[in-house]
Amino acid sequence: MTGEKATYEFKAETKKLLDIVINSLYTERDIFVRELISNAADALEKFRHASITQTEVFDGHMPLEITIELDEEKNTLTITDTGIGMNKSELEHNLGTIAHSGSNTYLAELVEAAQKDVSLIGQFGVGFYSAFMAGQEVRVQTRSWDKSEGNEWVSDGTGSFSITEMNGLHRGTKIIVELKEDAKDYAQKWKIDSIIKQYSAFVSFPIKLDGETINTVQALWTKNKNDVKDEEYNDFYKFVGNAATDPMYRLHFSADAPLAINALLFVPAENFEVFGFGKVDPGVNLYCQRILIDQHSKNILPEWLRFLKGVVDSEDLPLNISRQALQDNALVAKLRKVITKRFLKHLDEQAKKDPEQYLKFWSTFGLYLKEGVTSDYEYQKEIGKLLRFESSKSEAGTPISLADYVLRMNPDQEEIYYINGPSRAAIEAGPYVEMFTKKDTEILYTMEPIDDFVLSHLGEFDGKKLVSADGADLSLTQIAEEAKEDDKEESDKLDEDTLTELTKWMQEVLAKSVSEVVVSKRLVDAPAMIVNPDGHMTSTMERILSASRKEQGIPGMESSKKKLEINPKNPLIVKLAELHKTDDIFAGEVAKQIHDNAMIQAGLVVDPLEMVERNYKILNRVVQN
Ligand code: ADP
Ligand code: MG
Repeated sequence: MTGEKATYEFKAETKKLLDIVINSLYTERDIFVRELISNAADALEKFRHASITQTEVFDGHMPLEITIELDEEKNTLTITDTGIGMNKSELEHNLGTIAHSGSNTYLAELVEAAQKDVSLIGQFGVGFYSAFMAGQEVRVQTRSWDKSEGNEWVSDGTGSFSITEMNGLHRGTKIIVELKEDAKDYAQKWKIDSIIKQYSAFVSFPIKLDGETINTVQALWTKNKNDVKDEEYNDFYKFVGNAATDPMYRLHFSADAPLAINALLFVPAENFEVFGFGKVDPGVNLYCQRILIDQHSKNILPEWLRFLKGVVDSEDLPLNISRQALQDNALVAKLRKVITKRFLKHLDEQAKKDPEQYLKFWSTFGLYLKEGVTSDYEYQKEIGKLLRFESSKSEAGTPISLADYVLRMNPDQEEIYYINGPSRAAIEAGPYVEMFTKKDTEILYTMEPIDDFVLSHLGEFDGKKLVSADGADLSLTQIAEEAKEDDKEESDKLDEDTLTELTKWMQEVLAKSVSEVVVSKRLVDAPAMIVNPDGHMTSTMERILSASRKEQGIPGMESSKKKLEINPKNPLIVKLAELHKTDDIFAGEVAKQIHDNAMIQAGLVVDPLEMVERNYKILNRVVQN
């Protein structure tokens, strides 16, 4: 060994991670073997890919493999790979800081997940530092394929590490773990053998343990479906997805035209983003002729399918394509389209085959499909079939498809109706569904704030327009016609002149808050309701947009003025028409209160102080009478 020994401090966040790894995760010690093997495999993949573009490579004669040597006497475990290696500055950076972006939130999430369920840790990939779970000292001897001089990195995982130049190394990396007293097991062959069989069976390079190859290198995705057992699929999923449980769905398909594709995709059993993991990285790897070209590829599937795990392999891709070039490669775009459509078709088939299971999928991953509708015009039609909502005719908690809705539509009904509210009960108590209930017309209940954006982006389904019931231009043609018929029978309804005068007066009183006061054709019992003059914007959408504007500190755009519809048959409105002639001021307070109540029922904001004060005024009058 030659060269000076230089000592470095670990970065603060690395120290924290080391502390968690060493002190909190020791029950999951086995995973350090998996992490080191996976780093070795990554380094080999990188070398294999890089060497394709190079005519001559350093140490090109060495077989691409991983070797593990155990020494029970010295208590060491040594993992060697002939991969890409690291030069001095890479060594300093890669094994001194945390590779993941946003390290601090990452750490917080890691701790949280560790407390919930240690098996979730696999999702994080604790990485290289997990070597200190079992090692009291770790040595990394490495030489880069750039042929620069080799180096040795040494640390005991407490505060610092050293790097010393080391001559005579071959290309690749050797990691020597000197085991802790209570971790001697890891120097035993049976132990390592079983860990590799459990976690690393699908590594695409030979793993040799004390001279014997213990994994069968196979690209499961290139096999014929009939030759693969369920168990093999599940094991493979656990390997690519770093998962502890079996997947919810899997799709294995091959195509020759228009593109040669072998794809194996899995839907996990859980949604990891809801465990506080933040946005998960994409989980599908892109291969060309079994050679990895893009791990956790951002290009091969749209972002809203980031929850999928698996592999896509296409021999039509140029092997030497760079990662940057993948981004705007036309072939990749074509692949993405074919695979996305195929996967959405698969979901639709599954939904038909086993609706109950599909509802489980929907409640776990439905949000991603909604994201797809709002962000990706290309697949709207396909995703439309997969959406599920509760409705006035569905059971509580059992959402239906838009196709179900269309099947049940009244013969002369032309549109699909929906209304947003915080809960089933709140929607059913509100004024918007009254006429629908009375006329036995089904209406969808959209109970997530994002739903209105989803349906307004979708625009239509099966040729039927999607219409929010709080829109002013709601053309319930048939409903309105029938309502007129009904009206003829009503006796204590206000006459035309009184109504015209009343609406005119209310409009003056409410001039600050409404654009117009009109007589409603659809209210049944409630005195009034708010409707949106702009058919594209529902009250829910407006509420969300103004909240997000506030959050981002963007000065509030005046919320658009709403229309107020009043119900001429409602006793309160009938009385109000009299009252405003005798006590104009008090009647004005009542009108404002009716308006505020309708706003609240629409989920919109009113001035609480002003409302409470007015409310007391009205109550005072009631108790005095
Ligand atoms: P990750 O694998 O998620 O990037 P790790 O903590 O496991 O995080 O590894 C950190 C980095 O160290 C890797 O990204 C890689 O650049 C480098 N590295 C680790 N092990 C090896 C190895 N055997 N050969 C080459 N580089 C390695
Ligand atoms: Mg790693």
